[in-house]
Amino acid sequence: EHPEDDGARRILLAGPRSFCAGVERAIEIVERALRSHTSPVYVRKQIVHNAYVVDDLARKGAVFVEELDEVPDGATVVFSAHGVSPAVREEAAGRGLDVIDGTCPLVTKVHAKARRFAARGDTVVLIGHAGHEEVEGTLGEAPDSIVLVDTLDDVRDLDLPDPERVSYLTQTTLAVDETAAAVDALRQKFPMLQEQSSDDICYATTNRQNALNAIIGEADLVLVVGSTNSSNSVRLVELSRRQGTPAQLIDRATDIRPEWLEGVRTVGLTAGASAPPALVTEVVEALAALGPVTVEEREVTRETTHFGLPVVRGAAAAKSA
Ligand code: SF4
Repeated sequence: EHPEDDGARRILLAGPRSFCAGVERAIEIVERALRSHTSPVYVRKQIVHNAYVVDDLARKGAVFVEELDEVPDGATVVFSAHGVSPAVREEAAGRGLDVIDGTCPLVTKVHAKARRFAARGDTVVLIGHAGHEEVEGTLGEAPDSIVLVDTLDDVRDLDLPDPERVSYLTQTTLAVDETAAAVDALRQKFPMLQEQSSDDICYATTNRQNALNAIIGEADLVLVVGSTNSSNSVRLVELSRRQGTPAQLIDRATDIRPEWLEGVRTVGLTAGASAPPALVTEVVEALAALGPVTVEEREVTRETTHFGLPVVRGAAAAKSA
């Protein structure tokens, strides 16, 4: 029996957590552009879905915009990690913008598959969340051939022109278990589903869910560091709640409400792929300030994925040419 008032707690850190290779690369792309450009560096959309990262880069000089019409002709613009539709690329080229592409290479792969599947005559079912930037970019690759399904109900309601020629793709940051259920439902409905379809949930999303899964059972409360528009972070909260462990999404340690911690002996702590490791440390320190804590890390797998930076073209290259 723990006395309720001594505040002694155990923190179980899920590993892997926090930044993925695609996010690190996208942030590095913006920082490098800020260092090498004397003119403003515009970024279309949040470079990654994290409020702290965006504020930090804005403080260093990055100008965040929603759409290209806010970017002056000829200026430098970075595309976010979530990718853009071909229409956005064409607009940028037409306006003579100096584009630096922060799209995660794993998202680029999904775009290539969307084009390939559509080109072979398939109707492509994209499993993903309506309105998410990544989904909008992927849909734009073949707007007439791709249908978006968000839920199992959407799968049930699907009515496709040629049920023999159907393939699917997924958003990279979905829940692994829910997506498997949606794919099963698709297979039942369309037995001729192309084998060359793919589950595109990325390694980072999968690893963070597996890592959380390994500690949920021992935790009285799960804290997920991440922003509300971060798809993979929200999936972590949902995963925990589905398994009956209360979970809260927090941007910063200051978001922790004292009442969440009442009676909580073990806090499971993780962070979405767009949340900086420093913010996890901040949460550990905040919990330690409330009473004695022990910190244990459970690492289910070690990530070694790293993506190189894009080759510099455009303004900088043109100047030296
Ligand atoms: Fe790329 Fe996955 Fe990270 Fe998204 S979460 S940026 S797809 S590695």
